[in-house]
Amino acid sequence: MVTNKELAELIFPEIKETIEDLEKRYPERDLPNGAEVTRFAPSPTGFLHTGSLFTSLICHKVAKDTNGVFYVRLEDTDTKREIQGSGEQLLQQLHLFNIDPDEGYLGNSEKGNYGPYVQSKRADIYKVVIKYLLEQGLAYPCFCSQEELEDIRKEQEKKKDNPGYYGEYAKCRYLTNEQRKEKILNGEPFVIRFKSSGDHTNKVAVTDLVHGDFEIAQNDLDIVIYKSDGLPTYHFAHVCDDHFMRTTTVIRGEEWIASLPIHVELFAALGWKAPKYAHLPVIMKIGENGNKRKLSKRLDNEAAVSYFLKDGYPSEALVMYLMTIANSNFEEWIFEHHFENMDEFKFSFDKMSLEGALFDMGKVNFFSKEILGKKNKYEIRDMAKAYSQEFNPELYSLICRDEDFFMDIMNIEREKENPRKDYEKFGDLYDRIGFFYNDIYDNLSSNGLSFNEKFNNQVIKEVLTDVRDNLSLEQDEQSWFNNMKEIGEKHGFAPNGKTFKQNPDAYKGTVGDVAEMIRITLSTRKNSPNLYYVMQILKKEECNRRINSVISNL
Ligand code: GLU
Repeated sequence: MVTNKELAELIFPEIKETIEDLEKRYPERDLPNGAEVTRFAPSPTGFLHTGSLFTSLICHKVAKDTNGVFYVRLEDTDTKREIQGSGEQLLQQLHLFNIDPDEGYLGNSEKGNYGPYVQSKRADIYKVVIKYLLEQGLAYPCFCSQEELEDIRKEQEKKKDNPGYYGEYAKCRYLTNEQRKEKILNGEPFVIRFKSSGDHTNKVAVTDLVHGDFEIAQNDLDIVIYKSDGLPTYHFAHVCDDHFMRTTTVIRGEEWIASLPIHVELFAALGWKAPKYAHLPVIMKIGENGNKRKLSKRLDNEAAVSYFLKDGYPSEALVMYLMTIANSNFEEWIFEHHFENMDEFKFSFDKMSLEGALFDMGKVNFFSKEILGKKNKYEIRDMAKAYSQEFNPELYSLICRDEDFFMDIMNIEREKENPRKDYEKFGDLYDRIGFFYNDIYDNLSSNGLSFNEKFNNQVIKEVLTDVRDNLSLEQDEQSWFNNMKEIGEKHGFAPNGKTFKQNPDAYKGTVGDVAEMIRITLSTRKNSPNLYYVMQILKKEECNRRINSVISNL
C-alpha cells in the first residue's frame, strides 16, 4: 500500500523543508498594535490600470495611517500572460504617484525579510505547502487531459449541472495511491488539485471591511493548485504568500469576491488564520448605450494611468480624485484643507461606498487646476520640465530656451491671493503659450487670423494702428485699461457693456471687442492669459512688430 506520505515524497523528493521551517523563517512581524500589513499584488500583464492605482493607493494609505507596512508582490505565475518589463514599469508608475513600497518587489531589486517577493521565485515555498497537503490527503494529483475535462464539461452542460471539477466529476479524486504512483512512474503529466470538503448548498460567513458581514456559498471545486509547469495557481499562491508575508488585510478589487470561498477554505485547510478582507468597488463609466459599465482597458483612455501621465496631469490630481471615490467625506475635507496635505486625511473603510463610482474626468480636471494654481513659478517650471522631458520634447525645448521667460509666462496672475487656475495639464501648454515665442507666433499667424466678422478690415486696421501708437505699457493695469477704453471710444466702441446696451446703434461694439482684436493680433487666439500681462511679457517693440505684420496682411 502506498501512503499519502510516500506519494508526496514521490512527487516532491527534493523538498526537505516543512511548514514549521517556513513559520520560523517568516516569523510574525513585530509591529505596534493596530498596524496593518497590506500588499499590492499586480500581475505583470500590462500597464497600470486606474483601478489598480486605486487599489494600491488604499493599500498604501491604510499601512501609512496605521504605521504598518505596505509591500508589493509580483504575481507572475501565469507565464503565458506576462509582458516583459511591465513589472518594473508598474513600480515606476506607482512612484510617480508617490506610492512607494516599504518592502517587497522594487523592480530590479527587492527589500525586506519576507521575500522573495516575486512568485516565480517562490516555487519551493509552494512545494513545501503542497507536499504537506498531499501528506494530509488534502490534495491529489490529477491526470485528466484537456479532452477529458472537455467531456466532463459537456456532460455537465447536458445534465444542467454546475461546471467544474468536483464530486463525482472529479475522477482523479477516486484513484488509489497505487494507481497514482503507477501513472507518475509511467511519466503521465499531471497537475495537483486541492481536495475540497465544501458543499455549495452550504454557506460560509465572511466579513469584509467594505461590504460588512455576508454569507456566500461554500466552495466545492477541487481547484488546481499546482500546474504542470511547476508553478502554483493564483488562488493557492496568494494564500501561502499572504500567510508567510504576514499580511493582515487583503485589499483588492471586488471581482475577487466570487473566489473568496476558495481562499477561505484553503486558509482553513492549512490551519492558518485568514487575513481581513476589503474588496473595493469597481470604477465605472457610462458606456455608449447609456448604461454603466466597468472602465475598460480596451475602450477607455482613462483606464490607463499612463494616459494621465502622458497628458501631463499632476499625479496629485488623480490621487485626490481617487480619494473622493475612496471616502465620501474626503471631498469636503480637502476643500476645507485648501487642497493641501492630503496625507493628513484619515481614511476609513466605513466611508467607502459600495456602488462602483462613475469615473468623472471633470473632477480630475478641477483638482488639477486647483493643484497647479497653488504652485509657484519654480515648482511649475520643475514639474513642466520633468513632464516634458519624458513625454513632450517640443515643450521641453521651448522651456529650455529661456527658463526665466517661461516662468514669466506661467507667473501671470499667479502670485496673488486668488491666483488664476488656468492650467489643468502640461500636455496643453505648448498650444496655449507657444505664441509668446516669436518664431512660433510667426508660424501660427502666417495662415491668417480670424477676427470677429462683425468688424471689417478697415476698422480693425484703424484700431490696431491707434493701439500701436497710443497704448502705453508703462502704466498700471487699471490705467492701461482706461487707455484702451479711450482708444476704443475714439473708434466708436462703448466703454462697457451697459453703455452699449443702452444705445446699441450708436456703437460698433464694446471695449471687450477692442481687447479681443488686440488679443487675436498678439496671440492668434481668442483666449489667452490676461492681455495686459501678455503685452508686458512681449514688450512694446514685439507687440508693435506683430501689430504691423497683421495690419500689412489685412
Ligand atoms: N494578482 C492579482 C491581480 O492582479 C492580485 C489579486 C489580489 O490582490 O489578491 O489581480
